Amino acid sequence: MEKKTKPETETTAAPIQREPIVPEKVPRNDGGKGSLATAEAGVSLQERRKRPRISETPPAPPPPPKLDDYEPIIGRPELDELRFLARYLRGKSVKMVNSTAVGGGVAEILNRLIPLMNELEVATKWEVITGGNDFFEITKGFHNALHGGEYNLTKEAREIFMTYNEQNRARMEFVEDLFVIHDPQPAGLIRSKERNRGRWIWRCHIDLSNPHPDVWGFLRPMVEEYDAAIFSSPAFSRQLGIPQYLFYPCIDPLSEKNKDLDETSIQKVCDDFGIDRSRPILTQISRFDRLKDPVGVIEAYKLAKKYVDCQLVLAGGGATDDPEGAAVLQEVMDSAGDDPDIIILNLPPWSAMEINALQHASTILIQKSLKEGFGLTVTEGLWKGKPVIAGAVGGIPTQVIHKLTGVLVHSVEGCAYQIRYLLTHPEFANQLGRNGHEHAKENFLITTNVKRWLVLYQIMLGMARPVKPDKPAQVAVAVTAD
Ligand code: UDP
Repeated sequence: MEKKTKPETETTAAPIQREPIVPEKVPRNDGGKGSLATAEAGVSLQERRKRPRISETPPAPPPPPKLDDYEPIIGRPELDELRFLARYLRGKSVKMVNSTAVGGGVAEILNRLIPLMNELEVATKWEVITGGNDFFEITKGFHNALHGGEYNLTKEAREIFMTYNEQNRARMEFVEDLFVIHDPQPAGLIRSKERNRGRWIWRCHIDLSNPHPDVWGFLRPMVEEYDAAIFSSPAFSRQLGIPQYLFYPCIDPLSEKNKDLDETSIQKVCDDFGIDRSRPILTQISRFDRLKDPVGVIEAYKLAKKYVDCQLVLAGGGATDDPEGAAVLQEVMDSAGDDPDIIILNLPPWSAMEINALQHASTILIQKSLKEGFGLTVTEGLWKGKPVIAGAVGGIPTQVIHKLTGVLVHSVEGCAYQIRYLLTHPEFANQLGRNGHEHAKENFLITTNVKRWLVLYQIMLGMARPVKPDKPAQVAVAVTAD
């Protein structure tokens, strides 16, 4: 759709300070009457944009899906393959350990993975290490340092790290056949490894491409005691004396965030947030973080809008209790100015269904990150069959193969160009969406993740052999291709 361009010099009013978003809190379950109520109350979309209706209570968690529930998505042969692979592992036991039961991507994946493994009769336990504030402050510092940040590694920090690892070691039993330790926090549990008993795997979910040398120097000897390490991207791996494997992060297609939604639910969320579905919708879902470049997205939208009609939705959360998030949200609001077509939503943490609906309703999904781990929002967009425009950083190029499963951009101008191009070439945009969906289905679903674990367990227990153990990326291909 072409839009008449206003000359840039023509301003009709002085810029107005954008009002802070004051969501109108509504109970989540209003019987699906939200849009009707909105219409009855005569609330215009413009008004709704100023006071979006955001649910004030977390929904009750749905029961976890069963393996058979995935059949309509991945098909019976894939499920049979999982059962076939698992058959050889019956009677084997696995312990997975991480540092939090809720919050964060790892806990989200484990919440889905553990029940599926047990349903496959691969007895899997999940345990969470405990620690005081001093421990978690240190591990947070480690986390940032492993991502390349500054850190002063003191003797005291090393001692606190090891003391808590020792305490957890003393309280836990290590009698399983396989141990999967997630991330650096519990890495010291490796001291419980006994010769000839159990195989130990370190699953690293973070970007280790540029780690702080002192922190990595401290952790590395522990990591090298493991029998294998797993990374989320070839670029994140390190030179290690143990085999390394590539496992992609994954999404659950049956979760609230990713399941299919009916048209009424999508429409209701759009009504609640004042989004006009008769016009193109560009959306970026992200924490309000400078590395996600929300202001760059606004600039790209403004450039594109000179040529094509569109609305921009920037939806994120975590800004209220994160001082930097609040500052970035303010920058975003300042940059949006009084443009009524920019809709900024500060969502509570229980907004999975709303995010799902926003992604479904969007014409294009954007993830213009300047730095990124993997970028699960990209996976979510691909899975929903949407054309995705994303920054060519971190794990994003693994997901977005340029002009095949989406488009990669390196600048505001590039992003604006792609917005304009995709909005004026809907057939191409749709094709990207279809390809993206297939790519996500093949590589980034929880069921694929289950398969990788089953094959890796077989390798670790000597029941199967990797094809080229000296080349991590190729090993991973061998694991996934079987
Ligand atoms: N997300 C969310 N609420 C928000 C913003 C993001 O639930 O307000 C979700 C988003 O849908 C995705 C995850 O948080 O599942 C973000 O993961 P990603 O890898 O994209 O970025 P990260 O925040 O981990 O850097």
